Order: sequence, then structure tokens, then C-alpha cells
Amino acid sequence: MPEGDTIYRTATVLRRALAGRVVTGFDLVAAKLTPAAARRQVVGGTVKAVESNGKHLLITFTTDGEDVVLHTHMRMQGQWHVYRPGERWWFAPSKARVVIRTDEYVAPCESPPVVELLTAREIALHPVVPELGPDVIADEFDFAEAIRRLRAQPGRDIATALLDQRTLSGIGNEFKNEILFITRTSPWTKVADLEEDDLRRILDVSRDLMRRNRDGGPRRTRFVLDRRQMVWVQERTRLPCYECGTPIEWGTHPGEFRKSWYCPRCQNVPQPV
Ligand SMILES: [Zn+2]
Repeated sequence: MPEGDTIYRTATVLRRALAGRVVTGFDLVAAKLTPAAARRQVVGGTVKAVESNGKHLLITFTTDGEDVVLHTHMRMQGQWHVYRPGERWWFAPSKARVVIRTDEYVAPCESPPVVELLTAREIALHPVVPELGPDVIADEFDFAEAIRRLRAQPGRDIATALLDQRTLSGIGNEFKNEILFITRTSPWTKVADLEEDDLRRILDVSRDLMRRNRDGGPRRTRFVLDRRQMVWVQERTRLPCYECGTPIEWGTHPGEFRKSWYCPRCQNVPQPV
């Protein structure tokens, strides 16, 4: 499942392939175009920038007028690919909702749930993107702003808060579960019950894990020699905790379909009797 580390890496790959190149083909299927963006001619322009913000990917093009920005968001599925022209694709071309062509590379996007084309001015007013919380993986990270956004809804549990992209952007369910294990935090702890130092440690671990994963390979949150043991709790139901041997459990949160996996003992979660 794409999390912030995956999208960051995708942006890096797309930037290397496309940035600065002239667009020779640009196809959108079932995309949302604003009227101002629909009037602009992308073919013949260049790829000006490729950026990620949390799980959002933004590609800016110069056009015959104002710059336009392609916004894709992957949610649970969706993936960008990069091929040489004429190379066989690894997925059915009918599933491509975006295809960007240059002389050197072809970049199709497979099944993204969100595809929008806006002008550069409109993206600044976009209802989702500007509201995103500080990007956990970014080189410059505003701790004070992140803590302010966490504290803004003190009654939420920390698991729900970490998944809210308007609070912090980039953390998905697997990282959330691993971060809470590493920091020995119960997923059901209310934000109000966490000290400043606890929140800071959660943010430090979040940044460390996401940044250690941003260059690719299988996702790892546990750095030991045995490569079969790369995560602490995620999807390890009833397997023994690597720290204390207690069976890993899972539980749910109100209004949230993503489960929390945790060690009842290490994370001090009271068990139903
Ligand atoms: Zn344990």
C-alpha cells in the first residue's frame, strides 16, 4: 500500500525521468480538469517540477499560458510507472488514467483514484493539498506545527491522529503501527494524555523510519540481520513479540477501518477479560 515513503520515491524516479523534458504526449482518462486548466496546451510544454507532499504527487508543466499542475493521489491503489518508448508495459494500458510522453520516457499512472489538472494559481487554493499537515519525510520539518496540529484535537487517540493527513502527511497504517510499538505507546492513548516529550519522540521515530525507507527495497521498521523479521507488529497477529514474547494482537478504532496491531505488554494495553 503506498505510504509517504513510496510516493517520495515515485517523485524522485519521475523527476529523474521527466524534469526539464518536452512533453510530446499527454493523455488523461476520466480526470477532473478545471476550465482554466482545460484551456491550456500541455503538449509542447516542459515538465517543470515533480513534487510529493505526503501521499499527494504534483507534477507542474509549462504550457502555452499559465503553468498547470497534475495532482494524483494513490489512496489504497494506484501506481506510476516509467518506461522507454516502445517498451512493453507491466499492466493493462486500459488501466492507465494518465500518460505523459517525452522523447526519452513514457510515464503512465495505473488506476489512481484521484487525477486532477489545475492551474498553478488554483492548486494554491485547493481544498486538500494546502491543508496537509507537515510532511513527515521532508528535509525541513516543522515540529512545532506538527505538535500544534496533533494537540488541536486532544480527544482523539494517537493512532487516529497519526493517520490524519491534515495533521501530519505521509504516515499510513503500517508505519503508524510500527511507530507506536517502537515508542511503546498504546494506539488508544488520547493525544491529551501524551506529554510534549512523548509527541516529540513519536515524531522523531516517524521521521527516522520514513526517511530510512525512502530509497526503496522492502519496507523495514526493524533493523536486524534476519531479513524475514523486518517489522515489529504489523500483521503479526498471535505471533510472539520480538521483545517480550507476548502474542501480538489487533484492535479497531471508532470510525476507522484500518486496524492497529500491537503488543499488549510492551505497549501496556489493558486486555479484555
Ligand atoms: Zn512485547
